[in-house]
This record gives sequence, structure tokens and C-alpha cells, in this order.
Amino acid sequence: MYKKNIAVIGSTGSIGTQTLDIVSENPDRFGVSILAAGSRVDELIEQAKKHRPNLAVIADESKYSTLRNALEPLGIETAAGSKALAEAMERDDFSTVVTATVGYSGLEPTIRAIRSGKDIALANKETLVVAGELITRMLSTSTATILPVDSEHSAIYQCLVGEDPATVDRLIITASGGPFRTRSAQELLNVTVADALKHPNWNMGNKITIDSATMMNKAFEIIEARWLFNIPGNRIEAVVHPQSIVHSMVQFCDGAVKAQLGVPDMHLPIRYALGDARRMESPERRLTLSDYASLTFEKPDVEKFPCLNLAYRALDEGGTTPCVINAANEIAVAAFLEGRIKFLDIYKVIESTLARTESTKHPSYDDLVQTNTIARTRANEIINSLN
Ligand code: MG
Repeated sequence: MYKKNIAVIGSTGSIGTQTLDIVSENPDRFGVSILAAGSRVDELIEQAKKHRPNLAVIADESKYSTLRNALEPLGIETAAGSKALAEAMERDDFSTVVTATVGYSGLEPTIRAIRSGKDIALANKETLVVAGELITRMLSTSTATILPVDSEHSAIYQCLVGEDPATVDRLIITASGGPFRTRSAQELLNVTVADALKHPNWNMGNKITIDSATMMNKAFEIIEARWLFNIPGNRIEAVVHPQSIVHSMVQFCDGAVKAQLGVPDMHLPIRYALGDARRMESPERRLTLSDYASLTFEKPDVEKFPCLNLAYRALDEGGTTPCVINAANEIAVAAFLEGRIKFLDIYKVIESTLARTESTKHPSYDDLVQTNTIARTRANEIINSLN
């Protein structure tokens, strides 16, 4: 069997470790060429001992000697820093990269990988949020492809198999509603970090869990869907589905709606992306619909969760606006996690940052880098002025 060699960036996070589960289940099918992590060096060393990549990269340069001392005796190359990671994306010992890092830092390695013709199993949603237009342009002249790992986009992709894209009426992205779905606007004033980190259905990293609580995650997924499936924002909607069994839907021109269902488990969309949209046997728990008394759907409350509407603003204005929203959100979420601002301030910080940052049309990569830096500075200034 043809063996696919992969790079996993963000290997110690939630998506990264689940990706390596699938590699372990299919040793004849997948090999690991590169493992890269942010700062969890001990976990990276353990993963490297097990999966024997050619190269292990740690973004946090202060952890480099630990990594090198542990792995070089085993004949595994090591490197540190974001520049080394970006350069590694141009190596020719792998064909697919799973981009499982969180945030803006996923952008540069993804762009480098596309430039060198790699296939992308995309879990880093910020890449398409920040640079959807640029990446779409790059893909049109590259042999690289993107397969979504995000469960909603994987669901939509699966619903579109065998369909004529011209017959798609709208995309319906499901949202769990997060931990605060049933709280009143008044109650949201004083929710704590611990409350916000209690996601009802999915076990994820802190940043995406807070994004789920504000529904910014769903806004990002609407933007991501616009670029992945080339459907305008006004034909993409979010619906709250607290059980997280229907992973998303597509409505067609004849009124038919297709959905993909399953237990909330990221192994499924990761497996589908790694298998090039062909189905592989899974040992995971199956869905038993009779275990669920009901599957419910409701309109999202955009008064309570104003971040959701930022998706449509981002798509209407285009240019660098989504980049500004992402940068301000990353800074605001970090400040919330550190206890420096309140939950509802996250939206305020983003809105104020947008008001103080100009948008540029059709940005180049350098424009995005510059906008990201400026927006982060503005967002930090706004946070400081709140306190
Ligand atoms: Mg998702």
C-alpha cells in the first residue's frame, strides 16, 4: 500500500494527539516525518520516541536543548523557533501537513506548505479567517489541496460528495451554543474563566473553548466555510444544536437538506481528511440515535452573542477586516484567560479595535503580517484603558 508521510504541527494539542492515534491505528498507511509543538517539550519527546519522525520542532526556543539532548542520540533531527518550522514545510519527506496549531501562528507554515505543493489537512481555522482570499488565490495556481478537519466543514464536505456545486442553496453550520446558551444576558456579566472553559460536548484547547463560549468560533467557521466552499456569506447560516450530533448540513436548490451525523468525536473528521475523503474503519463508539431523547435546533441569540455577527461584517468588508477581528480576538481571549478583562469585554475589545484600524483591500501576505501586528497593539491598548 502507498504510505502517506505526514507532518503534524501542533502535535501535542487536542487535534494533534488524535491525529497520532489514527497514525498508530494504521501503521501501514501513515508515517510521521515531522512533529512540531509549541512549548510542551516532554510530550513532544514522548511522541517522537514513539513515532520516530525525521524531524521534531519546538516553537519555544528556550526548550530546544531539552529536545535536542533527548532526540539527537536517537538520530532524530531537531529544530526550534517559528522560522525553523516554516522552513520545515518545504522539506520533501512528507506530502500532507495536519495544521493543528491554534491561532495566527498557523498562517506562515500553512502558506509555506501550499507554496511547496503539500496537501493541507486544515484544523487551524485562523488561517482561512485571516487569509482566506490570499490562500484561495494561491491554491488556484498550486497542486496543493485543502481538506477540512473542523467537524462542521468536514460534514459539509461529506454532504457535497456527488453533488453539483451549482445546486447548493445554503450551508447550515451547527453550533452547540457553548456553556452559556441558557444563561441570561445579565448572568453573562460576571461569568468566570472556569465557567467559560466548561464546554458541554467537546473537549478542546482553552482558546477554542473560549471562542465557543462567545460564539466567535462559529463566526470563524462561517468565514472558513465561505472560502472552503466558495459560497457567499449571505448563504451561510448558523443554527444552535445543543446535542452536537448533526455536524452541519447543506440545503440544495430542490429544498433537500443533507446532514452528516455522528457522536461528537474529532477522530472522524481527522480520519476522513487523512484518508483523502475516503472512509477508513474506525474503532470509535458508534452513534445510537435512540440514546438521544431529542435532537433540537434553535436560532442563535445574536444579542447575547454579538461575536457571531462579526462573521458577516468580516465577509462584507473583506480585505484585512477578518485579520483585525482575529488579532483582537486572540489578544482579548488571552486577557480574559488571565483574568484581566471580563467575558463581555471580549466583544468590546474587538469592536473598538476594528473602529481604530483601517482595512486594506486584497491584502498581500506582508499586508496581513503588518495588520496583525498593528491590531494586536491596538487591542492591548484598549484592554489597558479598560482597567
Ligand atoms: Mg468546529
